Amino acid sequence: MFDLLTMPKAELHLHLDGTLTPSTLLRLAERHDALALLPEQALATWFVFADLNHFFHVKRTIKQLLRTADDFALVVHAAAADLSAQHVRYAEVTVTPYSFIDALNYGLTIEDLLAGLEQGRQQARRDFGIELRWVFDIPRNRAFANGGDYVAGVAERTLAYALLGREYGVIGLGLGGSEVNAPPEAFAPVFAEAKRHGLRSLPHAGESAGAASVWGAITALGADRIGHGVRSVEDESLLRLLAERQIPLEVNISSNIALGIYQRLEDHPVRRLDAAGVQVTINTDDPQMVGTTLTREYELLITGFGFSKADVLRLARSAFQAACAEPDVKTRLLAEFDQWAGAGNAAHSGG
Ligand SMILES: [Zn+2]
Repeated sequence: MFDLLTMPKAELHLHLDGTLTPSTLLRLAERHDALALLPEQALATWFVFADLNHFFHVKRTIKQLLRTADDFALVVHAAAADLSAQHVRYAEVTVTPYSFIDALNYGLTIEDLLAGLEQGRQQARRDFGIELRWVFDIPRNRAFANGGDYVAGVAERTLAYALLGREYGVIGLGLGGSEVNAPPEAFAPVFAEAKRHGLRSLPHAGESAGAASVWGAITALGADRIGHGVRSVEDESLLRLLAERQIPLEVNISSNIALGIYQRLEDHPVRRLDAAGVQVTINTDDPQMVGTTLTREYELLITGFGFSKADVLRLARSAFQAACAEPDVKTRLLAEFDQWAGAGNAAHSGG
């Protein structure tokens, strides 16, 4: 197999709270004298995905320990170090500002959050040469509280934070959380406003809900890419539309298996999506909890799905093409990728 580790990579679907390692979490808990928030059991075991309730509990605990600008700077730098070890050269990282500023009450302001992210981003560029951009996502379930009524303010505040963040690397508005009982259509005005101001539309869809959710993301939200989107495979006409318009999917194979979207690896539709002409990108979602790396996700394409070396190179390259970075940054990153691929690094086939 050719050297997947040193292949330059772009990661387009990665949640900041999903990058924290047990040791970083411990450091934050000590910093805030909040060890009581952590479990009695070994942190490394506690991090491992057990079931959805546990998964959300771990995520909630992590969010409770991210309280200051310095915390964000620390976590971003640690994430960049791990990404850099996987030869990730560019990443779009999803952050949920509403959770930290509005839902939790540790006094964090949007200015603190942006300052911390920016400090971490600058240090990451200096220390690892990695480019980071941010997606600020709306926690859709908070916007549909109390069994189905739309709660005004959650999406609107997230948009306001994202607009403030544009000069600090925020490139898109996201929509995260469970799609069940939180359909995309309600968020149409906010996404239209985001696009008017130059932000990209990057909603999750087609993960916990089926093709209708992806249709909604495209028609109501003008999605520039789809987070997950794997369940588009349930609708042939949707597959044709995705392929025609070349709307990229941010596919996260190990996350889908861990969260039970698909029971077995062989059930995962990554191969069928690619074969249908849909632009597929490979990502990790919550790598620490799911127990994966971007290198491992690419390995899975070969070992689990029979992709060829040429297929893997094509998909890895398409992640750079699907990035929302500025044109000059994309050109530079693509040139770096092509130079690696052409320099004999990918010469040894057999995977
Ligand atoms: Zn996600």
